[in-house]
Amino acid sequence: MIDIKDLMALQVQNHDQASYLVLSGRGKRQYLVDLLADNGRGGIGVCTCPDYELNRNAQCKHLLRCKIYLAEGILKHLAKEKR
Ligand SMILES: [Zn+2]
Repeated sequence: MIDIKDLMALQVQNHDQASYLVLSGRGKRQYLVDLLADNGRGGIGVCTCPDYELNRNAQCKHLLRCKIYLAEGILKHLAKEKR
């Protein structure tokens, strides 16, 4: 199970369009996440981490973190428009 604090501690940097660099272990490890890339399993979203490669469901904490990051950006934008 992923601890929510650990998940949110992952730092996200914009890379290109819908791709992001995720820093873990205080920046010791960096993984590239592309939320729009075809995952070859009927879905979208790929990550360069070893967990992603091993995971049959094509998920990892970096992908999840980036989806939250993207959603937060959209929500902030919508909240601003609402004002
Ligand atoms: Zn990953």
